[in-house]
Amino acid sequence: MTTTDELLAANERYAARFDKGGLLLPPARRVAIVTCMDARIDPAKALGLDEGDAHVIRNAGGRAQDALRSLVISQRLLGTREVVVLHHTDCGMLTFTDDELRDKVRHELGADASHIAFLPFKDLDESVRLDVAYLRASPLIPADVPIRGFVYDVRTGTVSEVSVEETAAA
Ligand SMILES: [Zn+2]
Repeated sequence: MTTTDELLAANERYAARFDKGGLLLPPARRVAIVTCMDARIDPAKALGLDEGDAHVIRNAGGRAQDALRSLVISQRLLGTREVVVLHHTDCGMLTFTDDELRDKVRHELGADASHIAFLPFKDLDESVRLDVAYLRASPLIPADVPIRGFVYDVRTGTVSEVSVEETAAA
């Protein structure tokens, strides 16, 4: 029995008591959250979200560059108008460099990953600031969309805002 089989068994129990079939497609709270795929983060529990409330866009590190495609769809087609960037302590992205991972791929798979930017980072707060700045600067994200950045502490469950220097708004 694979883990996938276990998931399917769990879904049978879930679907048997499912009662959220009437939710609308656009997120009710009009927010998109960009966060890491880290298994220790449950955005719904940590941020008080119910089904239908928000878009949660997850990738390794919660990197904005990787999420831009989804954010444009979220905002232009599905009505979200606020963005939360949420990185976290003890992130795997702090543990490697692009060259190290490319070497590992080459050695273990015999494959070339030189065209992939894995987007690791060395400084957690700085990665949040960079991602907020990236979205702020993007012509694909309207200037009046609130974008705030945070760090989730995997040991305490707390979320702390990362102060981002004001862009030249005036
Ligand atoms: Zn992470």
